[in-house]
Amino acid sequence: MSNPVNNAQTTAGTKRGPAEYFTGTAWVTMLVGENPTNCTVGDVTFEPGARNNWHSHPAGQLLVVTAGRGYYQEKGQPARLLRAGDAVSIAPGVVHWHGAAPDSLFTHLAINPNVGQGVADWLAPVTDEEYRAAQK
Ligand code: MN
Repeated sequence: MSNPVNNAQTTAGTKRGPAEYFTGTAWVTMLVGENPTNCTVGDVTFEPGARNNWHSHPAGQLLVVTAGRGYYQEKGQPARLLRAGDAVSIAPGVVHWHGAAPDSLFTHLAINPNVGQGVADWLAPVTDEEYRAAQK
């Protein structure tokens, strides 16, 4: 079947998540790039154990989990275990990370509204100690 979003806003191709913002390997496919709604949608797959750095989003973010198991954690809060069908609403400026469980792939849609305000402000990597604590 051909891509159902076959228009100028589609950004074809899967790219590796930049090493400076990820621990381990993640794959990012932009499903809906910049467009008149100012909201973009990307598909992100984390290999087992992979996660992104601590970060925040100037205009917030929505995550919709489509496969596997992983974690979402806000600074100072316990991590949440996420499975396919789970969704997370992230308020603007809230520091957090997301990534796979140690023994599972983890795939989510990342919906970024108002990208004109910026997409993400990146901070330090999630340490192995922080990552282990998320599994408790
Ligand atoms: Mn995020």
